[in-house]
Amino acid sequence: MALPESFIRDLTDKNDIESVVSAYVNIKRRGRNLVGLCPFHGEKTPSFTVYPETASFYCFGCGAGGDVITFIKRIENLDYLDAVKFLADRAGLRMPENTQENDAYSRLRMRVLEANRAAAKFFHATLMSPQGKVGLDYYHSRKYSNSTITRFGLGYAPDSFHALYDELSRQGFTDSELEAAWLCRRSQKSGRMYDLFRNRVMIPIIDIRGNVIAFGGRVLDDSKPKYLNSGDTPVFKKSSNLFALNFAKTTAANDGLILCEGYMDVIALHQAGFTNAVAALGTSFTEEHANLLARYTQRVYLLFDADGAGQKAAQKAIAIVRKTGLDIRVLHVPDGKDPDEFLRSNPPEMFRKLLEEASNDVEYRLMKLGRQHLLNTADGRAAYLREAAGVLAGLDSPIERDVYIGQLSSTLGVDKGALKQEVERIRQRNRRSQEKTRMTTVVRQADNLTKKANPEALEFPRAASAEEGLLGILILHPDMIPKVQGKLSPSQMVTPFNRRVYEQILDRHSKGLLIELSFLAADYSEEEMGYLAQIVRGAVGKDVSEQDLQAYIDVLHDEEARGRNRNVSDMSDEDIRDILQAMKKAQQGGTNT
Ligand SMILES: [Zn+2]
Repeated sequence: MALPESFIRDLTDKNDIESVVSAYVNIKRRGRNLVGLCPFHGEKTPSFTVYPETASFYCFGCGAGGDVITFIKRIENLDYLDAVKFLADRAGLRMPENTQENDAYSRLRMRVLEANRAAAKFFHATLMSPQGKVGLDYYHSRKYSNSTITRFGLGYAPDSFHALYDELSRQGFTDSELEAAWLCRRSQKSGRMYDLFRNRVMIPIIDIRGNVIAFGGRVLDDSKPKYLNSGDTPVFKKSSNLFALNFAKTTAANDGLILCEGYMDVIALHQAGFTNAVAALGTSFTEEHANLLARYTQRVYLLFDADGAGQKAAQKAIAIVRKTGLDIRVLHVPDGKDPDEFLRSNPPEMFRKLLEEASNDVEYRLMKLGRQHLLNTADGRAAYLREAAGVLAGLDSPIERDVYIGQLSSTLGVDKGALKQEVERIRQRNRRSQEKTRMTTVVRQADNLTKKANPEALEFPRAASAEEGLLGILILHPDMIPKVQGKLSPSQMVTPFNRRVYEQILDRHSKGLLIELSFLAADYSEEEMGYLAQIVRGAVGKDVSEQDLQAYIDVLHDEEARGRNRNVSDMSDEDIRDILQAMKKAQQGGTNT
């Protein structure tokens, strides 16, 4: 590890987890701990817990967890060293020098950001020059005003294979920096560098900190591809960034976010005064995007093109966003128009009206179903009713259900009571299978984290839970290490990850170094930190006796003797039920103490 221990100590002392986290999450005290809505996945009931005692956090919903550095890494989307820098800045600490190893990557990131900024300036200047007239004409044809062009930093990439390359080389950027930034590439044939964006209007993608992290480019004619977007780079990941969120985040909490298909729609909306519009970047909508939305708002308006592809994309996005528990509204632009077409030919008030009238996704799904059946025939109505009852049965809120049952019964002219009965019947039928799915989801979430951090734990559950119990105690009570050390060698730990942690604990202890999550953060991935936080959380607030330690050690000795043959498929239903119950108890204990 390149950073001195004393520095990390200082850093974690001056950045207590409670105050760091509370800048992002509204956390409320509950006993010794603090709870709030998880910033890493959408949820309605808080399962994100901060443990001031161990300076750690853990989410029961998605398994995110770790120390204060891991928290910043995740929420600010930074690598380890940048997260440390972030916290150092926050606390007014100077970074120690000679952190060379990580510095190379960190420096590359910085150079890529600088290259992007320089490129954005070049594209914008070109747009405003005589050479950029075609680009400017294009923007004007879309009715973008000059102030919109300036606000979004729009530009034009000239029809040249080396204009940008020449300019940025002149400014001192190296070939490898320009390649890393996804601005230029080396030709296989000639070996020369060439510009990736040519004869396109250029839209810089700016993150919430104001950095230019990528570009989208659109052709002016019919050539292909119509849109060209930066690939993933050291500063940009398509699946976890939203265009215009830097502007939209300020009003998102009040106005909700309008999710569009493309950045041209977004720009048109912002110009019309709807500054809460965002779009995914040249990729389909992902869960990461949905979680990002959920970090800023409670309500999402979906605004997709009226064509088949747009509607299909909308359906997919609804399914993903619904998982976050956000309130979803679907916007219908009349006459099958695309959003920016509509904005060009109508005053903003008309769009405001669309927003107000936007149906939520239940209405949208009922309407879709309605189109699939011939409602003027008795058979068609019956089939529609059956499927619609299925949709309504899926609603968790009784009030919501009642509203739609009422709506549907009056639209179709059927008895409300009968429809209600039908919905309840389906709910009951679903309940059994829902219960089953819910239980498996709980197991799967814990499993997922374990699978990523310590896959062998799933194979050897008994050994792994003894190891976890033991490690949790040792991290919280390092004074216990001498009592375990002589009785259990690292090789007697069955799962490799836990063995590695145990070795590291013993090593640090022998050198008289402190054992805390923050000191481990440099060496472990986010998933591994989540898993470690889960382990530590399991040991919080428990009295520790030597008998407990001995019991864990006995299990591990026993497992060794049994040749580690017992695996998960040998577990009985009772075993599984016990584990589930223990997990439930741990969760309650964890948040209520
Ligand atoms: Zn979570």
